[in-house]
Amino acid sequence: MSDAVATSQSILVVGGGISGITAALEAAECGKQVVLVEKNPSIGGRVSQLYKYFPKLCYPSCGLEINLRRIRANRNLRLMTQTELVGLSGTPGDYTATLRIAPRYVNDNCTGCGACAEAVQAEFDDEYNYGMKKRKGAYLPFNMAYPPRYVLDPRILGTEDAERAKAACKYGAIDLDMQERTVDLHVGAVIWATGWRPYDAARIQPYGYDRFANVITSVEFERMMDPFGPTGGKLLRPSDGKPAKDVAFIQCAGSRDRNHLKHCSRICCMASLKQSTYLREQFGDEGRATIYYIDIRAIDRLEDFYARVKADENVRFVKSKVASITEDKQTGNVILNGVDTEGYHRYSNPHDLCVLAIGMEPSVDRSAFPVEVAVDQNGFIEAAPENGAIFAAGCSSDALDVNRSVQSATAAALRAIQVVNRVAGVEG
Ligand SMILES: Cc1cc2nc3c(=O)[nH]c(=O)nc-3n(C[C@H](O)[C@H](O)[C@H](O)COP(=O)(O)OP(=O)(O)OC[C@H]3O[C@@H](n4cnc5c(N)ncnc54)[C@H](O)[C@@H]3O)c2cc1C
Repeated sequence: MSDAVATSQSILVVGGGISGITAALEAAECGKQVVLVEKNPSIGGRVSQLYKYFPKLCYPSCGLEINLRRIRANRNLRLMTQTELVGLSGTPGDYTATLRIAPRYVNDNCTGCGACAEAVQAEFDDEYNYGMKKRKGAYLPFNMAYPPRYVLDPRILGTEDAERAKAACKYGAIDLDMQERTVDLHVGAVIWATGWRPYDAARIQPYGYDRFANVITSVEFERMMDPFGPTGGKLLRPSDGKPAKDVAFIQCAGSRDRNHLKHCSRICCMASLKQSTYLREQFGDEGRATIYYIDIRAIDRLEDFYARVKADENVRFVKSKVASITEDKQTGNVILNGVDTEGYHRYSNPHDLCVLAIGMEPSVDRSAFPVEVAVDQNGFIEAAPENGAIFAAGCSSDALDVNRSVQSATAAALRAIQVVNRVAGVEG
């Protein structure tokens, strides 16, 4: 998009995941001017990386498509990708937001044909697939990326690959002279929706995530099911590519633990229950899941989903905090060691693969906010009067599922609308 011109009656939304998209659309569809900024080249956030949603087991791509249609149809909403808020000054109803826009090196002429990617040779770890796959130095972040434009990785600038990409583009879309820019926007309220990041599994030392190839995280497991993902939609063991038919899920991996994340991430139990259905889907009767848990946290309508999964005889539940993981070097199996707290039996159970249901932590560290905001002991933004007209939405306010993120985003939009209405002198 062109440079945004905003006024004190505009709302700035930071973060283009489901929460930021929802907040931006709700406000824009109420007639407010909204600028949505996203630091990545595409919006969609972490839900775009999920295979299915609990509890309905529908595809997130459907919801994303509906939201993209709403975005395309709304002239009140302006989107800026590869953009971060680096400074915020002023008072509620009268803020100056300083935005830093990283160069994409690809302009609006891009048709998404992919000729640049074919021409480029350099490959890098694909962050969208948590490094389980490589991507080219010219790339579309994922197949439903919006805006549907390629990006050049800055690491190829100044190399022959950059020139190759430029020469391959028939539409004059590659612009190697693009520079980082900073713009100031006048806005009345800010919705902060920067979401979450997965807890670093390597820090849970007894589980050997960085030592054993067949110990992976729940976010990586989601990527494996994607037909466009690192394994082409097949559940395969990283060590030898064998189908992972017998999978262990460890709950509270790094959550509810004073050495790691103190809080309960709320979604991990549901995510593992959901992922146990992937085994049935892929392997039928041969797919087996074992869920090692402290307690299963499923409330309201999620309780029905839990009951449904529990009724599957191929899904076993072991009430236990797994003490450690070792590896059978001959088979590559992971062996989970611990004590079953229902019978007080010791176990050493082999599985093809182990999935750590890792917790969610805020994606922005408390020291990295461009302005002072009140955060709780876990780093999530609190609803506090000293935050002025900065309102947190979704997982920047707490560990939430999509349903609750959307509710929180709608509430944040309403609060922001109240502020800009006051500026405009609209009666509340
Ligand atoms: C393994 C797993 C499975 C899950 N499965 C489900 C499920 O089936 N159903 C369900 O309801 N929930 C599920 N969840 C939870 C779901 O992922 C979250 O509810 C959802 O991602 C919250 O969306 P969000 O927009 O708040 O955050 P995010 O998805 O994290 O989006 C935040 C956005 O902000 C951007 N951003 C970050 N920092 C900045 C910055 N400084 N400036 C600009 N932009 C920034 C990010 O790039 C991102 O696009 C699952 C979670 C896990 C861990």
